Amino acid sequence: MTTSLPMPTLHARPTAAARGTAAASSSCSPDLAADPWTVDRRGPAYGPGASQADRAPASAPVQGPIPEEYRELDDATLHARITAAREELGERVVVLGHFYQRDEIVAHADFLGDSFQLARAALSREEAEYIVFCGVHFMAETADVLSRDDQAVILPNLAAGCSMADMADVAGVEDCWAQLTEVLGDLDAPDETGKVPVMPITYMNCSAALKAFVGRHGGIVCTSSNAAVVLERAFEKAHRVLFFPDQHLGRNTARAMGIGLERMPLWSPGRPYGGNGNTVASLEDSQVILWHGFCSVHKRFTVDQISAARAQHPDVRVIVHPECPMEVVDAADESGSTDHIRRAVESAPPGSTFAIGTEITMVGRLAAEHPEHTIFCLDPVVCPCSTMYRIHPAYLAWVLESLVRGEVVNRITVPEAEAAEARLALDRMLEAVPR
Ligand code: SF4
Repeated sequence: MTTSLPMPTLHARPTAAARGTAAASSSCSPDLAADPWTVDRRGPAYGPGASQADRAPASAPVQGPIPEEYRELDDATLHARITAAREELGERVVVLGHFYQRDEIVAHADFLGDSFQLARAALSREEAEYIVFCGVHFMAETADVLSRDDQAVILPNLAAGCSMADMADVAGVEDCWAQLTEVLGDLDAPDETGKVPVMPITYMNCSAALKAFVGRHGGIVCTSSNAAVVLERAFEKAHRVLFFPDQHLGRNTARAMGIGLERMPLWSPGRPYGGNGNTVASLEDSQVILWHGFCSVHKRFTVDQISAARAQHPDVRVIVHPECPMEVVDAADESGSTDHIRRAVESAPPGSTFAIGTEITMVGRLAAEHPEHTIFCLDPVVCPCSTMYRIHPAYLAWVLESLVRGEVVNRITVPEAEAAEARLALDRMLEAVPR
């Protein structure tokens, strides 16, 4: 029986003492070794890992029990059964694996990438009837929005949500929109300059319902790769943007464009004017209204960790993800998406040293794939994304063998009206290419 979750192994990792911490060999939760189905029985919760302190909404999907036989299979048997099911299904199935997935899942993926790369990769397999998305819920929704009606998108574990995505919901955003309308007038109506008062911009990491909201109101979806281009396009048509759910990506991107922090009020949902001292005047003067959301994986990185890495490796190149807090991005040598980080490592001369601020599973894989470099995670504590690692091989085996029997389980379906509006916002993103 598979009784523990394989944790990422880091190569050439500095010692705890050298990095000024005593916790380098520990994990963020003793429960990390638990089987994911143990966590699934606890109802809507993110489970052990980086998001364990975040509150999951009551509406978060819950994964029902999978057949006991899958929970009792050892790693080798699971691997063999997944491989056999894949062979039997042939080109009828495509398996997508996010960069943050564990290696035992990635081993079966036809494509490895970030959320949008994977959604597009699925489209390249027109013959596939089934798209098995080894990632989190909003990614599977996006794949469903972009795929054909006769293709079924499957999420192996329904409890694989995203705490950041859940920090913005339609009710909260609608309330914000209504309050901003009181302050700024009809938000969808252009003024004499041809610009609307506010355009909604959402990071890819949100529900399809919010992408639909954005599509309905003339807004655009962005990724961590193209957020700056999307904001540039938005400011051609709007005086301000409402950016959700990740405040850090919004702040880091806007500041790099020269927008002052004083023009980026933070909006906490459910409060008058979003709280945080916001006033009619500050909202009128704003350029980027930042939603109070964050990624608990990337929030773990600190300036102290960067200082410790530099102290031990004077030649270290520090790369962090733009979901990290602003002071961490400022202290790093560069910031960029998961794909940017991967390409930076691949193109570096042998013998390079990298301290990386992104999800530890991906950092561990980069380190294993590039023994010619010294690569370590900035965070000395092993603390993976709570939901990405919920995709255990037992779930993948279960969904694939169900397909072999002709049974589609864990299908993710976005209602057509919602999908059509979400597609508008995604299409605008594709049109927002650098000029
Ligand atoms: S790493 Fe952060 S943004 Fe990505 S799925 Fe996990 S919680 Fe969500």
